[in-house]
Amino acid sequence: MNGLYYKRLLPVIICLLVLIASDIFALNIVSKYSPRNRERKKRPATEFIVLHTTEGPKAGSLKKVWQRGEAHYVVDERGRVYRIIHRSRIAYHAGRSMWNGKVNLDERSIGIEIVGYHNRDLTSAQYAALKELIKEIQRIYKIPDKRILTHSMVAYGKPNRWHRKSHRGRKRCAMNLTTDSARRKLGIDDWPRSDPDVKAGRLVIADPLLEKALYGSAKEQKYAASSFTGSDANVIMKGRTAWDIARDRYKSSGTVYLLPSGKSVRGHQVTNWKSMPAGTKVKLSEEYQDNVPEKIKVVADVVSGRNIAGDEYGSKTTLYLMQNGKIVTGDKLSEKKLNSLPKGTKVLVGYVVSGTISKRKSAFDVCGVRWDDPSTIYYFPDGSFKHGTEINEKAIPRNTKILLQK
Ligand SMILES: [Zn+2]
Repeated sequence: MNGLYYKRLLPVIICLLVLIASDIFALNIVSKYSPRNRERKKRPATEFIVLHTTEGPKAGSLKKVWQRGEAHYVVDERGRVYRIIHRSRIAYHAGRSMWNGKVNLDERSIGIEIVGYHNRDLTSAQYAALKELIKEIQRIYKIPDKRILTHSMVAYGKPNRWHRKSHRGRKRCAMNLTTDSARRKLGIDDWPRSDPDVKAGRLVIADPLLEKALYGSAKEQKYAASSFTGSDANVIMKGRTAWDIARDRYKSSGTVYLLPSGKSVRGHQVTNWKSMPAGTKVKLSEEYQDNVPEKIKVVADVVSGRNIAGDEYGSKTTLYLMQNGKIVTGDKLSEKKLNSLPKGTKVLVGYVVSGTISKRKSAFDVCGVRWDDPSTIYYFPDGSFKHGTEINEKAIPRNTKILLQK
Protein backbone atom coordinates (compact mmCIF):
# COMPACT_ATOMS: atom_id res chain seq x y z
CA MET A 1 0.00 0.00 0.00
CA ASN A 2 1.50 3.37 -0.88
CA GLY A 3 1.73 6.36 1.43
CA LEU A 4 -0.77 8.52 -0.46
CA TYR A 5 -3.47 5.91 -0.06
CA TYR A 6 -2.88 5.86 3.68
CA LYS A 7 -3.03 9.64 3.92
CA ARG A 8 -6.41 9.67 2.28
CA LEU A 9 -7.78 6.92 4.46
CA LEU A 10 -6.45 8.23 7.75
CA PRO A 11 -9.18 10.83 8.41
CA VAL A 12 -11.83 8.23 7.66
CA ILE A 13 -10.26 5.76 10.07
CA ILE A 14 -9.99 8.41 12.80
CA CYS A 15 -13.62 9.39 12.32
CA LEU A 16 -14.71 5.77 12.60
CA LEU A 17 -12.64 5.22 15.75
CA VAL A 18 -14.06 8.34 17.37
CA LEU A 19 -17.58 7.25 16.51
CA ILE A 20 -17.07 3.77 17.91
CA ALA A 21 -15.33 5.11 21.04
CA SER A 22 -17.99 7.71 21.78
CA ASP A 23 -20.64 5.05 21.47
CA ILE A 24 -18.88 2.63 23.78
CA PHE A 25 -17.69 5.04 26.43
CA ALA A 26 -20.45 7.57 26.55
CA LEU A 27 -23.41 5.31 26.51
CA ASN A 28 -23.59 1.70 27.49
CA ILE A 29 -26.79 0.54 25.76
CA VAL A 30 -28.00 -3.04 25.63
CA SER A 31 -30.97 -4.08 23.52
CA LYS A 32 -33.45 -6.00 25.60
CA TYR A 33 -36.55 -5.64 23.51
CA SER A 34 -39.88 -6.33 25.15
CA PRO A 35 -42.04 -9.12 23.70
CA ARG A 36 -44.55 -6.28 23.16
CA ASN A 37 -42.16 -4.29 20.97
CA ARG A 38 -43.18 -5.71 17.62
CA GLU A 39 -46.90 -5.28 18.13
CA ARG A 40 -46.56 -1.60 19.08
CA LYS A 41 -47.58 1.01 16.54
CA LYS A 42 -45.24 3.70 15.29
CA ARG A 43 -45.55 6.85 17.34
CA PRO A 44 -47.21 9.67 15.43
CA ALA A 45 -45.10 12.43 17.02
CA THR A 46 -42.12 12.92 19.31
CA GLU A 47 -42.28 16.20 21.19
CA PHE A 48 -41.35 15.26 24.75
CA ILE A 49 -39.06 13.15 26.88
CA VAL A 50 -40.79 11.86 30.03
CA LEU A 51 -38.62 10.71 32.94
CA HIS A 52 -39.74 8.12 35.49
CA THR A 53 -38.42 6.49 38.65
CA THR A 54 -39.19 2.77 38.96
CA GLU A 55 -39.94 2.94 42.72
CA GLY A 56 -38.44 -0.50 43.15
CA PRO A 57 -35.17 -2.39 42.82
CA LYS A 58 -33.70 -3.26 39.44
CA ALA A 59 -34.60 -6.93 38.94
CA GLY A 60 -38.35 -6.61 39.49
CA SER A 61 -38.66 -3.23 37.80
CA LEU A 62 -36.78 -4.25 34.69
CA LYS A 63 -38.82 -7.42 34.40
CA LYS A 64 -42.10 -5.57 34.75
CA VAL A 65 -41.19 -2.81 32.30
CA TRP A 66 -39.86 -5.39 29.85
CA GLN A 67 -42.89 -7.70 30.08
CA ARG A 68 -45.36 -4.90 29.55
CA GLY A 69 -43.34 -2.62 27.30
CA GLU A 70 -43.70 0.29 29.68
CA ALA A 71 -40.74 2.43 28.61
CA HIS A 72 -38.33 2.93 25.74
CA TYR A 73 -35.29 2.80 28.01
CA VAL A 74 -34.39 1.69 31.53
CA VAL A 75 -31.29 3.15 33.20
CA ASP A 76 -29.93 1.05 36.06
CA GLU A 77 -27.85 2.21 39.05
CA ARG A 78 -24.59 1.45 37.29
CA GLY A 79 -25.49 3.58 34.31
CA ARG A 80 -26.30 0.72 32.00
CA VAL A 81 -29.13 1.54 29.58
CA TYR A 82 -31.60 -1.08 28.37
CA ARG A 83 -33.56 -0.60 25.18
CA ILE A 84 -37.05 -2.01 25.81
CA ILE A 85 -39.26 -0.58 23.08
CA HIS A 86 -37.81 0.78 19.84
CA ARG A 87 -37.68 4.56 19.99
CA SER A 88 -39.97 4.90 16.96
CA ARG A 89 -42.79 2.88 18.54
CA ILE A 90 -45.27 3.60 21.34
CA ALA A 91 -44.38 2.59 24.90
CA TYR A 92 -47.07 2.81 27.57
CA HIS A 93 -45.40 4.80 30.31
CA ALA A 94 -47.31 8.01 30.98
CA GLY A 95 -50.89 6.78 31.46
CA ARG A 96 -53.43 9.57 31.95
CA SER A 97 -51.29 12.53 31.04
CA MET A 98 -51.53 16.12 29.88
CA TRP A 99 -49.10 18.88 29.04
CA ASN A 100 -50.07 22.27 27.74
CA GLY A 101 -53.47 20.96 26.67
CA LYS A 102 -52.10 17.93 24.86
CA VAL A 103 -53.18 14.57 26.26
CA ASN A 104 -52.03 10.92 25.95
CA LEU A 105 -48.37 11.77 25.99
CA ASP A 106 -47.47 8.16 25.19
CA GLU A 107 -48.28 9.08 21.61
CA ARG A 108 -45.94 12.06 21.70
CA SER A 109 -43.04 11.07 23.89
CA ILE A 110 -40.05 8.89 24.66
CA GLY A 111 -40.27 7.36 28.15
CA ILE A 112 -37.19 6.66 30.28
CA GLU A 113 -37.41 4.64 33.50
CA ILE A 114 -34.65 5.28 36.00
CA VAL A 115 -34.10 2.52 38.55
CA GLY A 116 -34.66 4.34 41.82
CA TYR A 117 -37.13 6.33 43.88
CA HIS A 118 -38.78 9.73 43.61
CA ASN A 119 -37.36 10.74 47.00
CA ARG A 120 -33.75 9.57 46.61
CA ASP A 121 -30.89 10.89 44.54
CA LEU A 122 -29.61 9.13 41.43
CA THR A 123 -26.13 7.58 41.34
CA SER A 124 -23.44 9.54 39.50
CA ALA A 125 -23.29 6.76 36.89
CA GLN A 126 -27.02 7.22 36.32
CA TYR A 127 -26.68 10.97 35.91
CA ALA A 128 -23.88 10.49 33.39
CA ALA A 129 -25.74 7.86 31.34
CA LEU A 130 -29.05 9.68 31.46
CA LYS A 131 -27.40 12.89 30.35
CA GLU A 132 -25.96 11.20 27.25
CA LEU A 133 -29.17 9.38 26.49
CA ILE A 134 -31.23 12.56 26.73
CA LYS A 135 -28.75 14.42 24.53
CA GLU A 136 -28.94 11.70 21.92
CA ILE A 137 -32.76 11.66 21.85
CA GLN A 138 -32.89 15.45 21.76
CA ARG A 139 -30.55 15.41 18.79
CA ILE A 140 -32.57 12.83 16.87
CA TYR A 141 -35.98 14.39 17.46
CA LYS A 142 -35.00 18.06 17.93
CA ILE A 143 -36.56 18.26 21.38
CA PRO A 144 -35.79 21.49 23.26
CA ASP A 145 -34.76 21.38 26.95
CA LYS A 146 -38.12 22.81 27.99
CA ARG A 147 -39.86 19.64 26.82
CA ILE A 148 -37.89 17.28 29.03
CA LEU A 149 -40.49 16.53 31.68
CA THR A 150 -41.09 14.15 34.55
CA HIS A 151 -44.05 11.81 34.95
CA SER A 152 -45.06 13.78 38.06
CA MET A 153 -45.32 16.92 35.91
CA VAL A 154 -47.58 15.39 33.26
CA ALA A 155 -49.74 12.82 35.10
CA TYR A 156 -53.23 13.91 36.06
CA GLY A 157 -56.19 12.26 37.76
CA LYS A 158 -59.89 12.01 37.07
CA PRO A 159 -62.31 13.51 39.60
CA ASN A 160 -62.69 11.23 42.64
CA ARG A 161 -64.13 11.36 46.14
CA TRP A 162 -61.34 13.68 47.35
CA HIS A 163 -60.93 15.88 44.31
CA ARG A 164 -63.98 16.94 42.40
CA LYS A 165 -62.11 18.19 39.36
CA SER A 166 -59.47 16.71 37.12
CA HIS A 167 -56.30 17.31 39.01
CA ARG A 168 -52.54 17.37 38.93
CA GLY A 169 -50.74 15.32 41.53
CA ARG A 170 -51.55 11.75 40.52
CA LYS A 171 -47.89 10.75 40.55
CA ARG A 172 -44.75 11.84 42.33
CA CYS A 173 -42.71 9.84 39.85
CA ALA A 174 -39.23 11.32 39.18
CA MET A 175 -40.00 14.54 41.08
CA ASN A 176 -36.41 14.38 42.36
CA LEU A 177 -35.23 15.34 38.88
CA THR A 178 -36.93 18.72 38.94
CA THR A 179 -34.41 20.49 41.18
CA ASP A 180 -32.02 22.93 39.56
CA SER A 181 -29.02 20.84 40.59
CA ALA A 182 -30.41 17.58 39.19
CA ARG A 183 -31.27 19.29 35.92
CA ARG A 184 -27.82 20.83 35.63
CA LYS A 185 -26.27 17.39 36.15
CA LEU A 186 -28.40 16.19 33.25
CA GLY A 187 -27.27 19.04 31.03
CA ILE A 188 -30.73 20.63 30.99
CA ASP A 189 -30.52 24.44 30.93
CA ASP A 190 -34.12 25.48 30.48
CA TRP A 191 -37.28 24.09 32.07
CA PRO A 192 -40.93 24.98 32.76
CA ARG A 193 -41.33 27.34 35.73
CA SER A 194 -45.02 26.64 36.24
CA ASP A 195 -47.73 24.15 35.30
CA PRO A 196 -49.33 25.28 32.01
CA ASP A 197 -52.50 23.23 32.53
CA VAL A 198 -53.10 24.54 36.05
CA LYS A 199 -52.47 28.05 34.77
CA ALA A 200 -55.02 27.60 31.99
CA GLY A 201 -57.58 26.19 34.42
CA ARG A 202 -57.69 22.75 32.79
CA LEU A 203 -56.52 21.12 36.03
CA VAL A 204 -56.49 21.94 39.73
CA ILE A 205 -53.71 21.23 42.19
CA ALA A 206 -54.43 18.19 44.34
CA ASP A 207 -51.02 17.91 45.96
CA PRO A 208 -49.68 21.34 47.00
CA LEU A 209 -46.45 19.79 48.30
CA LEU A 210 -45.74 18.21 44.95
CA GLU A 211 -46.45 21.53 43.27
CA LYS A 212 -43.72 23.05 45.48
CA ALA A 213 -41.37 20.18 44.73
CA LEU A 214 -41.83 20.69 40.98
CA TYR A 215 -41.95 24.47 40.66
CA GLY A 216 -41.00 26.00 44.01
CA SER A 217 -37.87 27.85 45.05
CA ALA A 218 -34.84 25.77 46.03
CA LYS A 219 -35.85 26.14 49.68
CA GLU A 220 -39.43 25.07 48.98
CA GLN A 221 -38.22 22.11 46.95
CA LYS A 222 -36.01 20.98 49.79
CA TYR A 223 -38.82 21.29 52.30
CA ALA A 224 -41.25 19.38 50.05
CA ALA A 225 -38.76 16.59 49.42
CA SER A 226 -38.04 16.11 53.12
CA SER A 227 -41.72 15.81 53.95
CA PHE A 228 -42.12 12.91 51.53
CA THR A 229 -39.55 10.74 53.23
CA GLY A 230 -40.80 10.43 56.83
CA SER A 231 -41.28 6.96 58.29
CA ASP A 232 -45.01 7.66 58.64
CA ALA A 233 -45.39 8.77 55.01
CA ASN A 234 -47.63 5.76 54.35
CA VAL A 235 -49.89 6.16 57.36
CA ILE A 236 -53.36 7.63 57.09
CA MET A 237 -53.88 10.53 59.49
CA LYS A 238 -55.57 13.88 59.74
CA GLY A 239 -54.62 15.73 56.58
CA ARG A 240 -53.33 12.60 54.86
CA THR A 241 -55.96 10.53 53.07
CA ALA A 242 -55.79 7.18 51.32
CA TRP A 243 -55.56 9.13 48.06
CA ASP A 244 -52.61 11.18 49.31
CA ILE A 245 -50.72 7.93 49.82
CA ALA A 246 -51.97 5.57 47.13
CA ARG A 247 -53.09 8.15 44.54
CA ASP A 248 -55.21 6.58 41.80
CA ARG A 249 -54.42 3.15 43.17
CA TYR A 250 -56.44 3.76 46.35
CA LYS A 251 -59.27 1.48 45.14
CA SER A 252 -56.97 -1.12 43.59
CA SER A 253 -57.00 -4.73 44.73
CA GLY A 254 -53.21 -4.47 44.89
CA THR A 255 -53.36 -1.82 47.61
CA VAL A 256 -53.57 -3.21 51.13
CA TYR A 257 -54.83 -1.23 54.13
CA LEU A 258 -53.47 -2.48 57.44
CA LEU A 259 -55.93 -1.25 60.05
CA PRO A 260 -54.81 -0.42 63.60
CA SER A 261 -56.91 -3.41 64.75
CA GLY A 262 -54.52 -5.72 62.90
CA LYS A 263 -57.06 -6.54 60.21
CA SER A 264 -56.28 -5.81 56.58
CA VAL A 265 -58.45 -4.97 53.59
CA ARG A 266 -57.68 -4.51 49.93
CA GLY A 267 -58.61 -1.33 48.08
CA HIS A 268 -61.45 -2.86 46.07
CA GLN A 269 -63.07 -4.19 49.27
CA VAL A 270 -63.34 -0.82 51.02
CA THR A 271 -66.86 0.56 50.91
CA ASN A 272 -66.75 3.33 53.49
CA TRP A 273 -63.69 5.52 53.06
CA LYS A 274 -64.86 7.90 55.77
CA SER A 275 -64.51 5.21 58.41
CA MET A 276 -60.91 4.39 57.49
CA PRO A 277 -59.24 5.00 60.86
CA ALA A 278 -56.21 7.21 61.44
CA GLY A 279 -53.13 5.06 61.89
CA THR A 280 -54.01 2.73 59.00
CA LYS A 281 -50.88 1.77 57.07
CA VAL A 282 -51.07 1.64 53.30
CA LYS A 283 -49.08 -0.95 51.39
CA LEU A 284 -48.80 -0.56 47.65
CA SER A 285 -47.90 -3.90 46.21
CA GLU A 286 -46.06 -4.12 42.93
CA GLU A 287 -45.54 -7.85 43.32
CA TYR A 288 -49.22 -8.41 43.15
CA GLN A 289 -49.35 -6.93 39.68
CA ASP A 290 -46.30 -8.92 38.64
CA ASN A 291 -48.19 -12.14 39.14
CA VAL A 292 -50.62 -11.35 36.37
CA PRO A 293 -49.98 -13.94 33.63
CA GLU A 294 -48.61 -12.68 30.31
CA LYS A 295 -51.81 -13.56 28.48
CA ILE A 296 -53.89 -11.28 30.66
CA LYS A 297 -53.81 -7.69 29.53
CA VAL A 298 -54.89 -4.78 31.63
CA VAL A 299 -57.00 -1.95 30.28
CA ALA A 300 -55.01 1.27 30.62
CA ASP A 301 -55.96 4.83 29.75
CA VAL A 302 -54.92 4.64 26.16
CA VAL A 303 -55.70 0.99 25.53
CA SER A 304 -59.38 0.20 25.33
CA GLY A 305 -60.65 -3.35 25.68
CA ARG A 306 -61.26 -3.32 21.98
CA ASN A 307 -57.65 -2.47 21.21
CA ILE A 308 -56.46 -5.27 23.44
CA ALA A 309 -58.76 -8.03 22.25
CA GLY A 310 -58.77 -7.02 18.57
CA ASP A 311 -61.43 -8.80 16.49
CA GLU A 312 -62.15 -11.03 19.45
CA TYR A 313 -63.43 -8.22 21.64
CA GLY A 314 -67.06 -9.32 21.49
CA SER A 315 -66.40 -13.04 21.54
CA LYS A 316 -67.75 -15.64 23.96
CA THR A 317 -64.18 -16.72 24.59
CA THR A 318 -62.92 -13.27 25.55
CA LEU A 319 -63.08 -12.80 29.30
CA TYR A 320 -63.29 -9.43 30.99
CA LEU A 321 -62.17 -9.63 34.61
CA MET A 322 -63.87 -6.70 36.29
CA GLN A 323 -62.48 -4.80 39.28
CA ASN A 324 -65.29 -6.15 41.48
CA GLY A 325 -64.18 -9.74 40.84
CA LYS A 326 -66.90 -10.60 38.32
CA ILE A 327 -66.04 -12.17 34.99
CA VAL A 328 -68.05 -11.17 31.92
CA THR A 329 -67.66 -12.69 28.45
CA GLY A 330 -67.33 -10.42 25.41
CA ASP A 331 -70.69 -11.42 23.93
CA LYS A 332 -72.50 -10.23 27.07
CA LEU A 333 -71.05 -6.71 27.01
CA SER A 334 -72.78 -3.96 25.11
CA GLU A 335 -70.86 -1.95 22.53
CA LYS A 336 -70.98 1.02 24.87
CA LYS A 337 -69.57 -0.93 27.81
CA LEU A 338 -66.85 -2.42 25.63
CA ASN A 339 -65.72 1.03 24.64
CA SER A 340 -65.65 2.40 28.15
CA LEU A 341 -64.13 -0.36 30.24
CA PRO A 342 -62.72 1.02 33.44
CA LYS A 343 -58.96 1.25 33.71
CA GLY A 344 -57.66 -1.85 35.47
CA THR A 345 -60.16 -4.25 33.88
CA LYS A 346 -58.24 -7.33 32.83
CA VAL A 347 -58.80 -8.98 29.45
CA LEU A 348 -58.07 -12.58 28.52
CA VAL A 349 -58.57 -13.71 24.93
CA GLY A 350 -59.23 -17.33 23.98
CA TYR A 351 -60.32 -18.53 27.43
CA VAL A 352 -63.48 -19.82 29.11
CA VAL A 353 -64.44 -20.10 32.76
CA SER A 354 -64.32 -23.81 33.42
CA GLY A 355 -65.80 -23.65 36.89
CA THR A 356 -65.36 -22.71 40.50
CA ILE A 357 -63.61 -24.59 43.30
CA SER A 358 -65.91 -25.45 46.18
CA LYS A 359 -65.92 -27.68 49.23
CA ARG A 360 -67.04 -30.61 47.12
CA LYS A 361 -65.36 -29.70 43.82
CA SER A 362 -61.61 -30.14 43.42
CA ALA A 363 -59.59 -28.70 40.55
CA PHE A 364 -59.74 -32.10 38.85
CA ASP A 365 -63.52 -32.19 39.25
CA VAL A 366 -63.76 -28.79 37.60
CA CYS A 367 -61.53 -29.29 34.58
CA GLY A 368 -60.17 -32.83 34.53
CA VAL A 369 -56.61 -33.62 33.45
CA ARG A 370 -55.93 -30.06 32.40
CA TRP A 371 -55.96 -28.90 36.04
CA ASP A 372 -52.15 -28.61 36.11
CA ASP A 373 -51.66 -27.50 32.51
CA PRO A 374 -49.28 -24.54 32.07
CA SER A 375 -51.98 -22.67 30.12
CA THR A 376 -54.61 -23.16 32.84
CA ILE A 377 -55.07 -20.06 34.98
CA TYR A 378 -56.35 -20.00 38.57
CA TYR A 379 -58.09 -16.78 39.49
CA PHE A 380 -58.20 -16.46 43.28
CA PRO A 381 -60.90 -14.64 45.25
CA ASP A 382 -58.34 -12.01 46.33
CA GLY A 383 -57.79 -11.10 42.69
CA SER A 384 -54.42 -12.80 42.22
CA PHE A 385 -53.47 -15.51 39.70
CA LYS A 386 -51.47 -18.69 39.34
CA HIS A 387 -50.71 -20.98 36.44
CA GLY A 388 -51.64 -24.67 36.55
CA THR A 389 -47.98 -25.57 36.94
CA GLU A 390 -47.63 -23.45 40.09
CA ILE A 391 -50.68 -24.72 41.90
CA ASN A 392 -50.70 -26.79 45.06
CA GLU A 393 -53.76 -28.97 44.58
CA LYS A 394 -54.51 -29.13 48.30
CA ALA A 395 -54.26 -25.41 49.00
CA ILE A 396 -56.67 -23.88 46.51
CA PRO A 397 -59.07 -21.52 48.28
CA ARG A 398 -62.78 -22.00 47.77
CA ASN A 399 -64.39 -19.79 45.10
CA THR A 400 -61.23 -19.82 43.02
CA LYS A 401 -62.20 -19.81 39.37
CA ILE A 402 -60.40 -21.94 36.81
CA LEU A 403 -59.86 -20.36 33.41
CA LEU A 404 -59.18 -22.78 30.57
CA GLN A 405 -57.66 -22.03 27.20
CA LYS A 406 -60.06 -22.71 24.33
ZN1 LIG B 1 -43.69 7.11 36.10
